[in-house]
Amino acid sequence: MMTRRDPVIAIDGPSGAGKGSVSRAIARALGCRYVDTGAMYRAVAWLAVHEGLALDDEVALGALAAQAELTLDHQTVTVEGHDVTSAIRTAQIDAAAARVARMPRVRDALVRRQREYAATGGLVMEGRDIGTTVFPAADVKIYLDASPDERASRRASDPAHSMGGDAAVLSEVASALAARDQSDRTRQSSPLVMADDAVLVDTTGIALDGVVARVLSIVREHLETRPLY
Ligand code: C5P
Repeated sequence: MMTRRDPVIAIDGPSGAGKGSVSRAIARALGCRYVDTGAMYRAVAWLAVHEGLALDDEVALGALAAQAELTLDHQTVTVEGHDVTSAIRTAQIDAAAARVARMPRVRDALVRRQREYAATGGLVMEGRDIGTTVFPAADVKIYLDASPDERASRRASDPAHSMGGDAAVLSEVASALAARDQSDRTRQSSPLVMADDAVLVDTTGIALDGVVARVLSIVREHLETRPLY
C-alpha cells in the first residue's frame, strides 16, 4: 500500500523579502514544523563571537557548526544552552552570519543538520539555498522577493531586529542589506539563486496577509496536483 508522505516546502529569497513571517504562517496553516535556517547561521556566528573565535577560522567554525548544541522552535533559538532569540538579530550578527555562511565547512555541517529535520515529518524550511541545495526535490519551492527599497524599509521597522540601540537609519540598513545580498549572491558555495522549478512571488507593495494567501494557494495547488505518493 502506498503511504502519504509529509510535504517538504522550501521558501528562499533575499533578506527582508518576508520569508520569516510567510513561512511561519504557512507552517501554521499546514500544521507542520517551521525551520529558520538563517537562525542556524546566525547562532553559529553568535557562538563564534561569544567564544572569541576568529571569524576567518573556517576549520574552527566548521567544527562549531557541526557540534554546537542548537535548538529551534517557532519562537526560540538556543545555542549551547544560551537563549539567543534576540541576540542573533543585531547588525553585528547580521554581518557575522553572512560571513560565516560563505564557508563551505560551515555550510556542509548546517546543511547536514537541516536535512535531518525532514527525517521526522513535514516542514516548511526557509533560507537561501533550500530549494537548490538542501532539498532539491522539495515538494513545493517558493522564491520570495521584493524591491531593495521595500526590503530595507521592512527590515528597518522589524521589531525583531535590534539596530544596536541606534536609530534605525534607513540608508544604513539599506546599504548593510545590499552588502549582505551581494555576499549571498556571489559566494562560491551555494549562492542565493532561484531554483529553476521555484515559483517567484514578488511581495513588493503587498501586505503580509496578501502574500500569505498567495503563497498558501500556490502550496495547496502544488500539493493537490502533485500528490505525495
Ligand atoms: O535569513 P537571515 O537573514 O536570518 O540569514 C542570515 C544569513 O545567513 C544570511 O545573510 C545568509 O548569509 C545566511 N544564510 C545562508 N543560507 C541559508 C540561510 C541563511 O547563507 N539557507
